[in-house]
Amino acid sequence: MTAKCAVNRTGPVISPKQQLDQDVLADTLKKEIKARKRDAQLERPGRRPGPLRQLWSYGKIIFNSLYFNVLTNWDTVLDSIFEPVYWLVDNLTRWFGVVFVCMVIALTTSVVLIVYLCVLPLIVRTYPAHWILWHLCYGHWNLVNIVFHYYKAITTSPGRSPQEKTDIPTVTICKKCIVPKPARTHHCSICNTCVLKMDHHCPWLNNCVGHFNHRYFFFFCLYMTMGCIYCSISAKDMFLEAYYAIESYYQTPPPNFTSEEKIFHKSLLYLWVLTSSVAVALGSLTIWHAVLITRGETSVERHINRKERKRLKQIGKVFRNPYHHGRINNWKMLFGVERTSHWITRVLLPSSHPPHGDGLTWGCPPYRQDTMDTI
Ligand SMILES: [Zn+2]
Ligand SMILES: [Zn+2]
Repeated sequence: MTAKCAVNRTGPVISPKQQLDQDVLADTLKKEIKARKRDAQLERPGRRPGPLRQLWSYGKIIFNSLYFNVLTNWDTVLDSIFEPVYWLVDNLTRWFGVVFVCMVIALTTSVVLIVYLCVLPLIVRTYPAHWILWHLCYGHWNLVNIVFHYYKAITTSPGRSPQEKTDIPTVTICKKCIVPKPARTHHCSICNTCVLKMDHHCPWLNNCVGHFNHRYFFFFCLYMTMGCIYCSISAKDMFLEAYYAIESYYQTPPPNFTSEEKIFHKSLLYLWVLTSSVAVALGSLTIWHAVLITRGETSVERHINRKERKRLKQIGKVFRNPYHHGRINNWKMLFGVERTSHWITRVLLPSSHPPHGDGLTWGCPPYRQDTMDTI
């Protein structure tokens, strides 16, 4: 007999593991017999649980069914507790979105009015003919592009997740909308829907930036930045004159400016400060989005990919972004450029052509593949 074996009273030699299995089986049988006895007692007339006890049991089951889920964890519990806070923030953001859109329209209109009433007349009076022509052509081309792309960005739906069952490959199901989520789709709690190729929710547009209005958003940012830079450079000398004039208001004796001249000075000061500040802030945002587009990422994917890159690096693997089709191709896909002439008709001029693809499936672009750059 080895040390690992034991002798049973009936004779045969069994291993410790077999002994353990027998003990567990005996235990289970004992429990089963006890449960059956208890059930039999309960079935006896007079020993049944009373109506109150039954009601209590039903109530307990109903209450548990309200929150029980195999996927429930602390994240879900915390989400549920903070749900009223999220609701308040989402509704406030939605409401502030309307205010922000009105602000953009009001500020842009005020700048355009000052340019038409103060800057352009001075340019026409003092500049040579070719500079007047340049200012008139460039200024109006820039203005048309800003107005067109802003209007399209706020009125174009970014693209919603399909509400019915389709054959498109889906990555997951949205817990809030209970609809399939294709690749690159994310839920926006402010719009309360799933958005295709969601980039972010923009309060300045009061709309999500997604597959169908990403180009309009980017061009609005780009043309607005260019317009602000143009205004601050064109009005720089006039701003300096107005600034010194305003400083001289407080001299003794004060200079003899009319009220019209004072409004003129203050308008130029407002124009220059506003356009310079927006040029810096919006310019930085535009550069950031240009970097993301070059890398074939959205703002949401930037965070996801960063985490994934880190995770794969730890296990000795290299992350490859499946939506990065080469730097030039990424830009072509966003702009919808398929021919050389499209750089003029679809990039330099306002165009309402749809973007490449349906936003549901993400195959290879119909262009020559550049060298794939791993980012
Ligand atoms: Zn959703
Ligand atoms: Zn949104």
